[in-house]
Amino acid sequence: MYDDEPLYVDCGPHGKRVAAVVCCHILHSGEVVGFIENSADPNDLQAWCEECEEMFLAEEDKTEAFEAFNDRAIVCGVCYKALKSKHSKKSRKRSSYGCIQH
Ligand SMILES: [Zn+2]
Ligand SMILES: [Zn+2]
Repeated sequence: MYDDEPLYVDCGPHGKRVAAVVCCHILHSGEVVGFIENSADPNDLQAWCEECEEMFLAEEDKTEAFEAFNDRAIVCGVCYKALKSKHSKKSRKRSSYGCIQH
């Protein structure tokens, strides 16, 4: 079964928009945490950060521990895009440095 109707969220200044899901780290971190998208469906946007991705791969499923770590939050599609550009690490400016070392 499959529900065609997208979920909407009322996002203050953005008004009623398609809802998107991000992890708490993407939402709250002031640092670039990465932005791994799990769905390409514009009516079902989901993303989490690199740490969540590692946790997910280690747990091999959306386990309780993973859900607790992920602590996902609902944002609107506009916020999602803004967070995506904020947290995406695919910056072309850095390519000349080769491997990025911290
Ligand atoms: Zn995360
Ligand atoms: Zn919004």
